[in-house]
Amino acid sequence: MLAAFLPLALSTYRFKKDSSVKKSLKVFVKTYGCQMNERDSEMISSQLQRAGHELIDNEKVADVVILNTCSVREQAEIKALGKAGYLVRRKRTNPNFKIGIVGCMAENLGEKLFKLNGVIDFVIGPKRLHELANILEGNRKNLSIGNPKRQPLSHDFDRKLETNKCTAFLSIMHGCNMRCSYCVVPRTRGNEQYRPMEDIVEEAKFLAENGIKEITLLGQIVNNYGGRLMPVINGKTPFVQLLERLDILPGIKRIRYMSPHPKNFSDDLILAHKTLSKLCPSVHLPIQSGSNRILVAMRRPYTAERILTIVKKLRRVVPNVGISTDIIVGYPGETEEDFAETVSLFDTAKFNMAFIFKYSPREGTRSAELVDDVEESEKERRNQILLQRVQEASLYYHQRFLGKTEEVLVEGHARRGTDTMFGWTPNHCKVLFKASENDIGKILSIQIDGSTTTILSGTIAENA
Ligand code: SF4
Repeated sequence: MLAAFLPLALSTYRFKKDSSVKKSLKVFVKTYGCQMNERDSEMISSQLQRAGHELIDNEKVADVVILNTCSVREQAEIKALGKAGYLVRRKRTNPNFKIGIVGCMAENLGEKLFKLNGVIDFVIGPKRLHELANILEGNRKNLSIGNPKRQPLSHDFDRKLETNKCTAFLSIMHGCNMRCSYCVVPRTRGNEQYRPMEDIVEEAKFLAENGIKEITLLGQIVNNYGGRLMPVINGKTPFVQLLERLDILPGIKRIRYMSPHPKNFSDDLILAHKTLSKLCPSVHLPIQSGSNRILVAMRRPYTAERILTIVKKLRRVVPNVGISTDIIVGYPGETEEDFAETVSLFDTAKFNMAFIFKYSPREGTRSAELVDDVEESEKERRNQILLQRVQEASLYYHQRFLGKTEEVLVEGHARRGTDTMFGWTPNHCKVLFKASENDIGKILSIQIDGSTTTILSGTIAENA
């Protein structure tokens, strides 16, 4: 077993600026990719603020631009590289301006990034982000990837909450022990490491005390929390034990998690959706393919039949549960028959949301050694077919809420109209309604009177 507990100690929750800092810099952080990266960017921001630097929203006046990158898809890398190329011009007119690339692409491409773009100042992998403030103090080019020499203290808990925020991500583990053929994450983030349960509960309490109503637990395979290092107690896996501890915290109204693996989707977790009042009736279940042959090629240890069993059990236990998924089309060797099996799975499972990705080979993965033999136009055709299926399922799913009153956590202003706000139902449906800024962070009863494939709309219920 390669996993290990992180030797974490709780860090201070309050921000004390480090008075020894040499020069306060204006830092702009741009985030690409997943929720893990968003949470990492929060940690970066907290760390730099504690070190006396200023985090700003306007990159044009920044002394330092940090690109927190993603390597999961080629497109994400292309975007970040394009951005770094664009920043080079500023470096030419202002030699003191610094550009840093951090995150998964930094780990994956490492030193090559200095060669691709000669003016990048530092490259830091996700396991070494705690070194960032020190690296900023120096003037030399810095490459910091691979495992850290010293384990950081709990930089997980290093956070500063934005005002008016009512939802937060909470990392409960790092890394992944699986070796899916197409994925760079185990290489960039390393093997699984679990935060002690006590630390996570403490952080959730801190979040609740600071106005957070909804937490989303994060992990590459979030439901493998604890692995074999924490015991199963009374038939409950460590992840469900953690959910139970969080469910009784005052102040926290909703709990979500992202992303579970079908392999670890145990019956105790399905049951938890019935017994835990704050666990939201919405599950993101990445399936990647509906063809058992392709699942084997991807090194995903489950079958299409297993997916349908999980979906069936969830729907039996949790009425109206929302189920979304991730899917890859055009994996090397995916035939029309394989794809037809994915379509058939979609038709049966009726996912109300799906992130559909056209396969692209990632350097350093097993599948990158295979011939990428599905034409781009064919990948696009398969993408469109699944998109159509999801849109139909989503519209059908949304329509079941018409005429009902839903509890909506108000998150902020919608793009349209100053008095239009948006929020989310427990099932993770986005809702638009008229309300005021003072309602942000409240859970309002909204009478649903409109629905499209992507959104619901309504009005505050009269008896609310
Ligand atoms: S489970 Fe597979 S796809 Fe997910 S992070 Fe681990 S290796 Fe990547």
